[in-house]
Amino acid sequence: MVPAQIFNQINDKCTEGLALALASSDDGAVMEFQWCNKAFKTITGYDTDEVLGQRGTILIGPDLEQGVHLYIIEKLMNWENFSTKALNNRKNGDTYLQRMGWTHLSDPETGDHWWLCSIIELEEEHRKSAARQDDHPAMADQEIYAKAVEKIHRLEKENARLHELARSVAKDANEDALTGLSNRRHFEVEFKTWIGNLKTHGTEFAVLYIDLDRFKSVNDTLGHDAGDQLLVSVAHMLRDLTHESDLVARLGGDEFVILKPLGKSALNVSSLADEIVHRMQAPFSFDGKSTTCSASVGVAIANGKMDVPEQVVADADAALYHAKSHGRGRWSFFTEEMHAASIATKQLASDLLLACERREFVAYFQPLIDAQTGKIACAEALVRWSHPTKGILAPAAFLDTAAQLGILKRIDEIVFAGLSEALSHFDRAGVDLPRVAVNVSAARLADPTFIHDIKSSGIDPKRLTVEILESVYLDRIGDMVRWTIDELEELGVTIALDDFGTGHASVRGLLAIGPAILKIDRHFIQPVVSDAGARSLTDSIIGIGKSLGMRVVAEGVESEEHARILAGMGCDYLQGFYFGKPMSKTELTNRLDETGGKFWSPKPRQVDNKMARDIS
Ligand code: C2E
Ligand code: MG
Ligand code: MG
Repeated sequence: MVPAQIFNQINDKCTEGLALALASSDDGAVMEFQWCNKAFKTITGYDTDEVLGQRGTILIGPDLEQGVHLYIIEKLMNWENFSTKALNNRKNGDTYLQRMGWTHLSDPETGDHWWLCSIIELEEEHRKSAARQDDHPAMADQEIYAKAVEKIHRLEKENARLHELARSVAKDANEDALTGLSNRRHFEVEFKTWIGNLKTHGTEFAVLYIDLDRFKSVNDTLGHDAGDQLLVSVAHMLRDLTHESDLVARLGGDEFVILKPLGKSALNVSSLADEIVHRMQAPFSFDGKSTTCSASVGVAIANGKMDVPEQVVADADAALYHAKSHGRGRWSFFTEEMHAASIATKQLASDLLLACERREFVAYFQPLIDAQTGKIACAEALVRWSHPTKGILAPAAFLDTAAQLGILKRIDEIVFAGLSEALSHFDRAGVDLPRVAVNVSAARLADPTFIHDIKSSGIDPKRLTVEILESVYLDRIGDMVRWTIDELEELGVTIALDDFGTGHASVRGLLAIGPAILKIDRHFIQPVVSDAGARSLTDSIIGIGKSLGMRVVAEGVESEEHARILAGMGCDYLQGFYFGKPMSKTELTNRLDETGGKFWSPKPRQVDNKMARDIS
């Protein structure tokens, strides 16, 4: 341990300026001077209180060469002891030639790092000779400085290049590659900023959601290059119609969005929407071929009164949906009614998901009558939602939303799971119900568990009919659906094609599936009593079915006359409100009990044949 007296003499007598500074253990930087001697103060011109607690930068005067400064930093960062000889400034700005040395010290007890700084003022002659001869003894240092300067230039260049690269990468990440508009990612980031500005500065803005109406068909008929070119020209058009301060983005596919500051009136927004729709009416030509592709636009305003302004994009989307469903090639402003409808749909969607969890779906049964005997041949299971507060709901109230949610398959599965129990119920009651029919969506047909569910249901497959809906999507039957249909036939399940004659079923689907039963949609059946044209149409559909060896069901039979006409035209089975509306299994059991299964008394065949001739 050095005696304090000796240590004090370093303060007073030593002509070399000395200072001790605590260093940052992260990067060697001089963090805080904690001690200095008299000479240090004399040479640098600083008082004790101007040194203590200061960082090393007080020793870097304005005249210290930049190369030397960088050299000092590099050495400190590497914990290397070093010394420099250079012109530097005192506190008052005077220059002097100094040798500055730095020695690294460390405290093993605390782990602290320290720098000992020594400063010697070199003689005036030395200074002159240093200036005159370019300082031979300091040659090595000069070279090092020069290298440091060169290095810094190199680093600066490299840095600039990296900046440029980063800028172009960021641009790529924000840009839609095809159109050069903002992409979805950038839109989302920007949208947050716009919402932030709305909340803090009340800057209201409009959202225009744009969707091309026939983009798919342009792609299909003119090819993908044409589709790409169309998107590019739409992007140009949108840029052309908008202001620099508007954000124009392509969200993907043929969907575009514009964010536009509202300014003083909403008029500029509606004229923009108008103009977009108008310009998109013009034909688009590609490779000598020309086509049209209109656009629909939904507009919504984000204003300060909204509780959740983030909702504005969904609002614009709801308005777009409105524009589409009212004929396309037009634009709609988001209204309160749409707001209510979209909230209702959202509510319905979440209620439906919950209903799936709670398995709130039950089957109601509607009889199918044998047109020859009037006896029940089958009962079609039709889903009902046993809603906890609203009671029994028909499919029209929820199936579309369920389809959009992609949960039709689950609903079908729940209905089917209840079927076996229902059949046992009828059997236990001792009533005669030959078979049941169940509706299945396309998704359920492609569901590999369907066949398994049938096999494990305990239902005799010979008593089961599967009604295929949405056969229009089954034109090109996928492997899974084909496999399911083959398996169903193998098991002895009867296959029926539902709703034939509507947009949901097609002749191609009919041929591909080859069902045993064809159900003619009630929209054809209903007018046959009064409309000769409808009768001949129905007649031809029955003819198609018969020629393919199928049995034919008439749906929607509502009166005795109706029933007789259709039986006379050769329908094998009749179904409709005339024989019974869909009913609970208890009601059906009672009806079967009361009637002994006979729902109707067909008149003798000859009469019907005569009538058929009369009306044809
Ligand atoms: P669908 O399979 O063609 O069922 C016949 C529909 O016509 C039933 O409507 C029935 O109540 C109605 N209907 C029957 N006779 C008459 C009549 O004389 N006059 C009138 N005006 N209507 C009659 P519902 O029960 O509302 O079912 C509608 C549609 O919902 C069904 O049409 C079917 O496409 C679908 N659906 C029903 N249950 C299910 C199911 O469990 N799963 C799936 N995926 N879809 C189902
Ligand atoms: Mg059906
Ligand atoms: Mg039907």
